Amino acid sequence: MHDQYVFEPAPQPGLEISGSDKLFPVHRIYCVGRNYADHAIEMGHDPNREPPFFFQKNPDSLVKQGQDFPYPSATNDVHFEMELVVAIGKGGVDIGVDTALDHVFGYAVGLDMTRRDLQGEAKKLGRPWEVGKAFESSAPCSPIVPAATIGHPAQGAIWLKVNDVERQRGDLDQMIWKVPETIAYLSTLFALKAGDLIFTGTPAGVGAIQRGDKMVGGVDGIAEISVKVV
Ligand code: MN
Repeated sequence: MHDQYVFEPAPQPGLEISGSDKLFPVHRIYCVGRNYADHAIEMGHDPNREPPFFFQKNPDSLVKQGQDFPYPSATNDVHFEMELVVAIGKGGVDIGVDTALDHVFGYAVGLDMTRRDLQGEAKKLGRPWEVGKAFESSAPCSPIVPAATIGHPAQGAIWLKVNDVERQRGDLDQMIWKVPETIAYLSTLFALKAGDLIFTGTPAGVGAIQRGDKMVGGVDGIAEISVKVV
């Protein structure tokens, strides 16, 4: 323990990197809302290309490969949202669309777990989304696959099964705001830093899970994730 602090600081959250014994230290977690038209429609919104909007989760809410997702408190309606995750390796502000991919270290797949009942209430009352989105263990995420290995996939099936039944299926090419555009836009609002993660939105088919369910999802060509609800 360092003398500087009155108690031991929380551990640095990190994700495994496939093909490496080093960890990716996570700084912030940004999430894009309604980034697939069919999901915007299922949530009752206009799928037209409005400016992207963002919310955040806490880095210590990551659930790593092999860990379980504990059913959270204060809810009866917890939804899965299968998403491509972008791992930022080089920070910046006002990043151009043309150079945005130079800032990407790699990609992962994650679940933007959502207390839908609390989120719905927050929306209705014009309140922030944190209670719906930023709760403990709300961000299961696979290891990161370096862009140096797989490049920058702009298409590929994104899917999720619950108890072996397919619930979500889309393709990365259906994103309203593509990854370079999302990075560029986000960097006009926040100073991106190495270690930031961006959850890029979910295709249609979101739904509720229960204790005992097993979620298995992935993006073809990138990674898969398997999480049990306990
Ligand atoms: Mn989401």
